[in-house]
Amino acid sequence: MFPNEPQRLHVLFFPLMAAGHMIPTLDMAKIFATHHVKTTIVTTPLNAPTFTKPLRSYKNVGPPIDIEIIPFYSKEVGLPEGVENYERCTSDEMTTRFLKGTEMLQESLEKVIEKCKPNCLVADKLLPFATDVAAKFNIPRLVFHGTSYIAQCVMHALGKYEPYKQVSSDEEEFDVPHFPHEIKLKKSQLPTFLRGLGEKHINDEWMKIFGRAMEAEERSYGIIMNSFYELEPDYADYYRKKMGRKAWHIGPVSLCNHEKEAKFQRGKDSSIDEHECLKWLDSKKPKSVVYVSFGSLAKVSTLQLQQIAMGLEASEQDFIWVVMSKNNVDGENEKNEWLSHEFEKRMEGKGLVIRGWAPQVLILDHEAIGAFVTHCGWNSILEGISCGVPMVTWPVFAEQFMNEKLVTEILKTGVGVGVNQWNIMVEGNVKWEDIKEAIRKVMVGEEALEMRNRAMKLKELATTAVEVGGSSYNILQSLLHELRSYNA
Ligand code: UDP
Repeated sequence: MFPNEPQRLHVLFFPLMAAGHMIPTLDMAKIFATHHVKTTIVTTPLNAPTFTKPLRSYKNVGPPIDIEIIPFYSKEVGLPEGVENYERCTSDEMTTRFLKGTEMLQESLEKVIEKCKPNCLVADKLLPFATDVAAKFNIPRLVFHGTSYIAQCVMHALGKYEPYKQVSSDEEEFDVPHFPHEIKLKKSQLPTFLRGLGEKHINDEWMKIFGRAMEAEERSYGIIMNSFYELEPDYADYYRKKMGRKAWHIGPVSLCNHEKEAKFQRGKDSSIDEHECLKWLDSKKPKSVVYVSFGSLAKVSTLQLQQIAMGLEASEQDFIWVVMSKNNVDGENEKNEWLSHEFEKRMEGKGLVIRGWAPQVLILDHEAIGAFVTHCGWNSILEGISCGVPMVTWPVFAEQFMNEKLVTEILKTGVGVGVNQWNIMVEGNVKWEDIKEAIRKVMVGEEALEMRNRAMKLKELATTAVEVGGSSYNILQSLLHELRSYNA
């Protein structure tokens, strides 16, 4: 047990090595720092720039945010050298190898704890060994999920009642049983391993990974959620009361980035110059631009990219469209043969295509943005909500179909583009006419205005939640109070 200095709480963060997990972790560290907590983030060599780059220009008002680098054993788990990040895994097989690689980090994590002597370990849900490591050093382990309350609750209800086993086809809808809202899902919207559709050894591997993560979560001290109470109160209550979990919602964490520079620096190196991007946005009318992005992981087929191009043009709206490089390996620009030069010429001034990494929060927060076409990754949803923009929802995989329900059916700040198939790839199934129609629904007319008003109200609630005295601020204060007295 380490001596606990009540005023000098030190929290160690260990995120999964994936953009959607590391980016909110740095935000959390910044937030903890403003509450006078010293923080250290553990990561591997090739992921370190995600933290060190933005920290170079970070105007720290609290104790330092340190980075501890530990090796990742790519070769030992059969991954090509240099693959130490979720984004770089291009198949299920690689992803399971990558997760096996994370299990080999236990010893290194122990060494970091011995060296840094933190009072608490916040580790990703998919790093279940962290619970045992924390227990060894008699410090609390908090789980960081990076998803919504509603998705956690749906997964719980699916596991408990297995309603998807009662339907006769993938397309037949079922209700999520005993739920605060009527939520209908289709089997086709659930992960392939749940439906038994993936390769057997991969399915088994995923079941094992999730089993271990669930078991470790139950033994952990509690859970940190990137959400805020006013956004999904029924599910925050369900999670804590019905599922019996101890959880603290401290988000939206992206709102800690006040300066343009901090918004621009989030994540990888931007593929567009900050000033060029802002100049383009400044030239547009308020609420006139549609922002399109599928996040850091989802790969989009050439056929689908072409349909998106046609849909955007037909919508007659200005747009910023983020397209990862074809293989989505490291965000480098590739020759983009899928996009015709004629299209680019016609769209000059009207549409901006960013090939690679976009400064998403900087863009979403600009007054020119009128809507967000999103794959429903939880960070993106929350960032859209924090900026008050209505959304076209286009879920791809993970828990994204559940996040979509929150936006389209509960908050009513978006419309679905009409996908029903959980898939690791965005295939060419959504036709340009549907894309155009969904975009016009959130941009033009009475219904769009109502959605925008609701979205602006949510923005206000999000901003208030993280301010002094707001729900997220207060709950973090109470967590820190608990942590300070844990070993006292
Ligand atoms: N992001 C970004 N620029 C990009 C792509 C993604 O800044 O070009 C950020 C985005 O703001 C979010 C995160 O990467 O914070 C993606 O997380 P999300 O949960 O939305 O989706 P994932 O990438 O994990 O599927």
